[in-house]
Amino acid sequence: MTTQTTADAGTPAAILPIFSHWVDGRPVEVLPDQTGPVYNPATGEVIARVPRGGAAEVDRAVAAAKAAFPAWRDTPLITRSQIFFAYRELVYRHREDLARLITRDHGKTFPDALAEVLRGLETVEFACGLPTQLAGLNTPNVSTRVDARTLRQPLGVAAGITPFNFPVMVPMWIYPLALMTGNTFVWKPSSHTPGATQLQAELWKEAGLPDGVFNVVYGGREAVAAILEHPDVAAIQFVGSTAVGRYVYETGIRNGKRVGAYTGAKNAMVVLPDADMELTADAAVAAGYGSAGERCMAQTLVLAVGDAGDRLRPLVEERIAKLRVGDGMNGSSDMGPLYSAEHRENVRQWIDKGVAEGAEIVADGRTFRSSNQPGGFYLGPTLFDGVRPDMAIYQEEIFGPVLGMVRCATFDEAVRMINEHKYANGTAIFTASGGAARRFELEVDVPMIGINVPIPVPAGYLSFGGTRGSAFADLQMRGEDSIRFFTKQKEVTVRWPEPGREGPLSLVFPGNS
Ligand code: NAD
Repeated sequence: MTTQTTADAGTPAAILPIFSHWVDGRPVEVLPDQTGPVYNPATGEVIARVPRGGAAEVDRAVAAAKAAFPAWRDTPLITRSQIFFAYRELVYRHREDLARLITRDHGKTFPDALAEVLRGLETVEFACGLPTQLAGLNTPNVSTRVDARTLRQPLGVAAGITPFNFPVMVPMWIYPLALMTGNTFVWKPSSHTPGATQLQAELWKEAGLPDGVFNVVYGGREAVAAILEHPDVAAIQFVGSTAVGRYVYETGIRNGKRVGAYTGAKNAMVVLPDADMELTADAAVAAGYGSAGERCMAQTLVLAVGDAGDRLRPLVEERIAKLRVGDGMNGSSDMGPLYSAEHRENVRQWIDKGVAEGAEIVADGRTFRSSNQPGGFYLGPTLFDGVRPDMAIYQEEIFGPVLGMVRCATFDEAVRMINEHKYANGTAIFTASGGAARRFELEVDVPMIGINVPIPVPAGYLSFGGTRGSAFADLQMRGEDSIRFFTKQKEVTVRWPEPGREGPLSLVFPGNS
């Protein structure tokens, strides 16, 4: 899987694997001093090293993708589809290997990582059947003996820039659509989770994808800037934080690229007094603390209407007390560590801030200590009550296991709070009232809505998106929107001369009659 090893300065006894960029169907050798550490967040140990690519590596990958483009564009759709079916089978066969790598590098529990792989695979499966969706339009007789055809063609080299928190699912929401529509691809993954990245590249090779069609360059700012400035990159889909996404969108657009950037979130679930409180408490705990809150679709605010909060809170507290925090590979863990020591420190500071802002801390995750993995990046679940819209812990994304309860007087107040929040990714309502749910669905200005469903991530063949601070994009990602994003449309007007039926030369602007 990896091609090189090195002794790491921080762990002198260890011989560490070094991950490689993947260009033109093979790994690219890197010098150890051009790499950074990869941690196992459960133990805090350095387990590998990952390259820090920059402009030169991006250039090399884009050149490979550009060279591979004409042949891939002209590859019959059914041949592309057959490669996709082979890839689908390989990913499915290696689903547990991918999940183990996700857990090792990210920290989330193994069942959660496995679920991620299968949700990503849905979009690969959708792409397997894409030939029918790529059909253009044919309109006979738009004028006398003139026909029109609408073609959808690939753009060229497309790029994906992805976050640490879904190293398989999120890239699988991007590259299947980019590739199946005939583009070649350069992927700039997160450097925190290289294990599953490397395996995806190898599985594409095994599936028979021609060399150069799928390339991987690791790196940070420098690599991203090189993609944004590269004249041969036609389109970019980004998933990550709002600050970086805004920069990627603005810079990419300024450089003439098509860009969709899907960014941060602060999702709120509304609980009405008529909700089934036991189920709602399960939903709040699952959506707030699953994957240690490191999901863009985590529900991090509970907007409890009327007396719902008084009845819900003890049920949530009961469940939090039973959560088992530990190594994601340990079958009894409900929640793993955070992905990095720095991020754990950030989340701790958010909890400090919530206390300083006057929210009531009901469960304090800062006190958690792992007895058997003291070096792991662990934090326990935190619950705040009495969170208010003027608090930073209400306004900002924390991306950790921190849930905040907000008390609202009415349904209308809860809907207004959601619509006035700077983020708009997902939301949910918990109620027994069809009428309230219907109003919620129509009135709330958020693209992904759950009705008694806490994490309403749409199926892999439907679209996924955000508004306000949660996306900088004209289209959503996946589904029909991604087919449009990754293709350009051409209108062809066709007239075949028929001797004896042609009129005289005319300089009049052509009409359609
Ligand atoms: P991030 O923004 O730090 O990183 C995303 C990508 O950008 C990575 O590839 C990273 O290497 C690169 N990057 C980071 N800093 C950069 C910089 N200064 N300049 C250029 N590139 C940079 O995000 P993350 O911490 O990896 O992921 C968590 C974030 O992603 C959260 O905000 C979460 O809500 C968001 N997210 C959103 C969705 C969605 O669909 N809306 C899905 C998953 C995650």
